[in-house]
Amino acid sequence: MVYAVITIRGVVQGVGFRPFIKRLADKFNLKGIVYNRTGSVLIEVNGTKPQINNFKGSILKEKPPAAFISKITIEYPEKQKLFKDFLIIKSKSFYEPKVVPPDLKICDDCKKELFAPENRRYLYPFINCTNCGPRFSIILNTPYDRKNTTMKKFKMCDLCQKEYKDVLNRRFHAEPNACSKCGPEVFLKGKNKKILKGYNAILKAKELLKKGKIIAIKGIGGFHLACDATNNEAVLGLKIRKKRSNKPLAIMTDSIDKIKKFAYVSDFEKDLLTSTAAPIVLLKKKNSKILSDEIAKNIDKIGVFLPYTPLHYLLFDNDILALVMTSGNIAEEPIQHINEECFRNLFNIADYFLYHNRDINIPVDDSVIKPYSINKKTDNFVFIRRSRGYVPVRIDTGIKTSKNILGAGALLKNTICLLDKSGAIMSQHIGDLENERVFKYYKQTIDDFLRFYEIKPEIIARDLHPDFLSSVYAEKLASVYKIKTLKIQHHYAHLLSCLAENNFYKKAIGVVFDGTGLGDDGNIWGGEFIIGDFKEYKRLAHFKYKKLPGGDKANRENYRMAISFLSEFLSKKEINKLYPDKDVDLILSMIERSINTPLTSSVGRIFDAVSSILNICHTATYEAEGPMLLESIANDFKGRLKIYDYDISQNNEIFEIDVKPMFINILCDLKKQNKKFIAASFHYTMAHIILDVAGLLHNKTKIKDIALSGGVFQNTLLLSQTINLLKKNKFNVLLHRKLSPNDSSIAFGQAVYAAFNS
Ligand SMILES: [Zn+2]
Ligand SMILES: [Zn+2]
Repeated sequence: MVYAVITIRGVVQGVGFRPFIKRLADKFNLKGIVYNRTGSVLIEVNGTKPQINNFKGSILKEKPPAAFISKITIEYPEKQKLFKDFLIIKSKSFYEPKVVPPDLKICDDCKKELFAPENRRYLYPFINCTNCGPRFSIILNTPYDRKNTTMKKFKMCDLCQKEYKDVLNRRFHAEPNACSKCGPEVFLKGKNKKILKGYNAILKAKELLKKGKIIAIKGIGGFHLACDATNNEAVLGLKIRKKRSNKPLAIMTDSIDKIKKFAYVSDFEKDLLTSTAAPIVLLKKKNSKILSDEIAKNIDKIGVFLPYTPLHYLLFDNDILALVMTSGNIAEEPIQHINEECFRNLFNIADYFLYHNRDINIPVDDSVIKPYSINKKTDNFVFIRRSRGYVPVRIDTGIKTSKNILGAGALLKNTICLLDKSGAIMSQHIGDLENERVFKYYKQTIDDFLRFYEIKPEIIARDLHPDFLSSVYAEKLASVYKIKTLKIQHHYAHLLSCLAENNFYKKAIGVVFDGTGLGDDGNIWGGEFIIGDFKEYKRLAHFKYKKLPGGDKANRENYRMAISFLSEFLSKKEINKLYPDKDVDLILSMIERSINTPLTSSVGRIFDAVSSILNICHTATYEAEGPMLLESIANDFKGRLKIYDYDISQNNEIFEIDVKPMFINILCDLKKQNKKFIAASFHYTMAHIILDVAGLLHNKTKIKDIALSGGVFQNTLLLSQTINLLKKNKFNVLLHRKLSPNDSSIAFGQAVYAAFNS
């Protein structure tokens, strides 16, 4: 018999880890204790060495679905301890950071019980256990306990209470534990007063979906708008009512086999789909024509997810192949999550409402993931949106800070970040702050997070732009708390977020491509090569400034930027011929006289311009529509690619890339080549520009570490081409894996900067 100390690091707190260890130890007949210590779980046991090794093996194999073990070690200290029992210990002597667990999809055990007629929760749409169910979305306060969740209004029946108290039960301290006797109920109502309840409500909803009706369905983080994905009329109706432009809609179906009828699924993609977060995964469409064409028009991918609540599962049967499940919100507003508000606000969109009385306190959107392949192997992904299922799991930055820091985030696709001695916590996706309701939601989220984690901010990091609502609010908060703010340039924050995510603390070259960010010189940056570490940065190269006719207007009206590029080598007459229905003369005179034409180095705008010149998208009906369509048709091209011309010159020690020659080439090619070839060659050219500039910067600085960040790198064709080229040339490429490359990770970059500079 020996005495051993097992240390487990990773996501091991707030996921039912200690009760799991207790059950396992009992099974192995081991005596000892288990407790939390900052960021890890410690187990002290007596047993034989083989027993302890088998125990370790089982921990790794059988761990709770939501747990992630990054490291497990066994030590055999000389000083022995002897135990009589195996106990879960509350650790008083160590600082235990507050934990708010993420929402988890229904687990396999609960799913089995849901469909087992002999089970007391047969067909009960709120079945859950310690391994699954709502968490973050129902929390009112910390610690995460039933009384601090929206489940507090339901008193557990004797049977549920018994499970909840039994350490050997799968429902030991499952805070949302419930059954049909004591828990939440589901309801269905139309526009009149008639209300159905329980399983009958679900059966009726299924029948209505099959008839082509649109139903608002309450999930974990908010309402979805659902309809039969194979019914073209229903899908079109939903799009028209939602005024959703051409933006692709997400699809839910209940098995991988069903997905394979309309999309390709690799093993890697299957793992993503079936993970506890159950994100929407963008899959390559099959040419099957089973689903409505309206779902993802002109895009080669389709967003698919599996049911993640018991209620979702109960909506499917053999007659329902797939449902459209799009966020139940209006335009850019936050997702609807409160019953009464939803009835009112979605009244003109939904025919029926399938809702329940388990309140959602925190609205959380679905997460979206885009897998991609390097060298034909699909084993990478980027986050398009990181929200439900992933937040608010702490991100281990390896940064030692004694300060409590709040990162206020960017203006668009905002999230906030708290950084303290226990790591970084990212909020759910909040959205574009210019929308009034989103801004309210932003302020609420900051309040919630500071309260949940009992953090009093000591420094607030914000964007350089003084007028961003996040900056304005950061200043306001700072004066309330009587603390100071730090200002961080947008693209520098991008670079730092990528470096910190990779625990990389040396100088690196940052390639940061996106739509818009205020630069140090007052111009709009977005095609930047910067070199920096956590102390300082320098801009060493960028795309040559071009005029952005109409300012913000040009962010959606792609033809404006196209005309700006074309005006450098075409006559007024020639441009008018290309754009007969646009006010070319006005735009040209704006450019000529520099009226409302801010200067930009944005790569996002280059993609916009190309999409317009190829006649793919002149005016975007949703953000980045042009670039998405461009990527989609480029993916369709198989064959030899061309590298278009571009110039790199040096101006005051700074390299400037001019893509004017590329636009001349593209216009020429338009007469003789197909668009797929041009689009693919354009992507390839952009990747070569990155490689060329990286080479120049390496010559200058000897640095071989390159971080890729910014929303443009959600374009996985550009991303994979760039990674391939850089790796072939022996660069060390740093990528976003835990966070999205887009503006949602700005808050994280801001916060880590503050950690090093305060
Ligand atoms: Zn479960
Ligand atoms: Zn009960």
